[in-house]
Amino acid sequence: MTLTEKLQDLRERSLLRRRRSVESACGPELVVDGRRLLAFASNDYLGLAADPALIDAAREGAGRYGVGAGASHLISGHYAPHQALEERLAAFVGMERALYFSTGFMANLGVVASLAGHNDAVFSDQLNHASLIDGIRLSGAEKYIYPHRDLAALEAMLSTCPAANKLVVSDAVFGMDGDLAPLPELLELCQRHDAHLVVDDAHGFGVQGPQGRGSLAKFGIASPRVVYIGTLGKAAGVSGAFAAGSDEVIEWLLQSARSYIFTTGAPPLLAHALLASLDLIERGDHRRAHLAQLIAQLRAGLKLKRWRLSDSATAIQPLIIGANEEALRIGAQLYESGLWIPVIRPPTVPEGTSRLRISLSAAHTPAQVERLVAALNELE
Ligand SMILES: *Cc1c(COP(=O)(O)O)cnc(C)c1O
Repeated sequence: MTLTEKLQDLRERSLLRRRRSVESACGPELVVDGRRLLAFASNDYLGLAADPALIDAAREGAGRYGVGAGASHLISGHYAPHQALEERLAAFVGMERALYFSTGFMANLGVVASLAGHNDAVFSDQLNHASLIDGIRLSGAEKYIYPHRDLAALEAMLSTCPAANKLVVSDAVFGMDGDLAPLPELLELCQRHDAHLVVDDAHGFGVQGPQGRGSLAKFGIASPRVVYIGTLGKAAGVSGAFAAGSDEVIEWLLQSARSYIFTTGAPPLLAHALLASLDLIERGDHRRAHLAQLIAQLRAGLKLKRWRLSDSATAIQPLIIGANEEALRIGAQLYESGLWIPVIRPPTVPEGTSRLRISLSAAHTPAQVERLVAALNELE
């Protein structure tokens, strides 16, 4: 197929994606084309992306360190705030050491491809994030995909796999469904089969567990077998990600992760802002409690007949509609009425499960959630 034909094919299957340019700061209300919209679209779960304290910290960081790192971390682009951030993050999630990456996508690519190679085996939940899947492809390891959250299937695969070096990788909170991985059971399987466990907590860091310390802390589990990945562009409200684990694992990542080594360090002003963000996360119980109330309000308020709400207790509350065209039509109707909820279609989600991905933030008010509930109940 030519590119023209490929694009036409996407168009015909209602799979062509488009972007909208936002003219205001990230928050519940966004200005697009001069119109004010109520959005349930971002992963800014704690409402920190435009917090005045973080804006001040970013300004202060820019004043001290300028706007660019100028080089990669291993040359001269590793700054004092990067170092301080790594130390704070490691202590916050209870690991020996952490490494700060420019994005979560790069962290996942780097971690998986560094910890697995040819002759190794990687076991991956069917609904894992694209960046983990690409990390596995890049690693050249044998790939075993187990059905979503299916521990028995994973155990069977682990038992029969001949590889000496095994890695199990899983999202902690699944981004398009909002449900949780069975982390204690996954860790137990990894212990039994001498495998490493890579936990991608992109949607859990900052929101799950005591003080937002993440999904491992929520379950009260810790092990030198675990490599924890948290991202910093979602609940933390800024940008970047980190891998945390044993001193040895992190040293190996620093020596070998190509997405860490061969890229310019993220602007140190971001690390400076992230240190302030960690303060807010740590002291953010009121934000997490408010978010939990909004989640309960949404779930109790929706009166569904044809559509199905995903079985989720997190801020990700997908409303599964089914066909691409219907999901797009509902999304467009909501948009017309001033509500912006992203429509997620294949290949991001399985065929026939196109959905409105409602995401809630501590910055939303109960009145805003009420407006969403009323609009959805009317369309259903
Ligand atoms: C968003 C996300 C990533 C990528 O993180 P970025 O910092 O946005 O690159 C990785 N894994 C999961 C599960 C995600 O949701």
